Amino acid sequence: MILKRFIFNPLQENTYLVYDETGESLVIDAGCQSKGEQDVLKSYIEEKGLTLIALLNTHCHFDHVFGNAFLCREYGVKSRAHRGELQNIERFKSGAALFGFAGDPPPVPSEFLEDGMNVEFGKSKLQIIYTPGHSPGGLCFYSPDDGFVISGDTLFAGSVGRTDLPGGDYNTLIESLKKLIEILPDDTDVYPGHGPQTKIGYEKLHNPFL
Ligand SMILES: [Zn+2]
Ligand SMILES: [Zn+2]
Repeated sequence: MILKRFIFNPLQENTYLVYDETGESLVIDAGCQSKGEQDVLKSYIEEKGLTLIALLNTHCHFDHVFGNAFLCREYGVKSRAHRGELQNIERFKSGAALFGFAGDPPPVPSEFLEDGMNVEFGKSKLQIIYTPGHSPGGLCFYSPDDGFVISGDTLFAGSVGRTDLPGGDYNTLIESLKKLIEILPDDTDVYPGHGPQTKIGYEKLHNPFL
């Protein structure tokens, strides 16, 4: 599986495109806000000859869904997230406005993801791990075969996501982190929703929240 990271919008959100040798691909957290950013993603998909088959969200804070309407329209794909994120979808405009931003409201997810499910594309699959706390429907996407996890705003290099936004809860986040540590081997690469990549083993030793 190949994982390509884009950094989009003023909140420097990490948008991930994953694909394999079949050319089937998924976008995880479409943060592309401006036309320019959307063109960057589109050009990459075109250049590599990829077929986008779905859009997944670790959670639906506005900085992670700026590009959802664009991708659903442009590629006819469905967006998928945890049911607990419906409130963030509804809150998109007011949430973005709080930070002085505006954008296309994301469509309501057409399919809901739950803990333990697998999302399959090409010859690959990602396992869903439910990790609420930063957001009520927070998810991580784990590839046991390729040894990486896309952790959204649950786990960052050296830190964790804030829990003071609507639906956030500190103790719940800590429980989710414990669950992640239990499931994921130390050599798992972590690709967070903001900032650089890290490894589970490194975070176990150095992250003050673990
Ligand atoms: Zn967030
Ligand atoms: Zn974020």
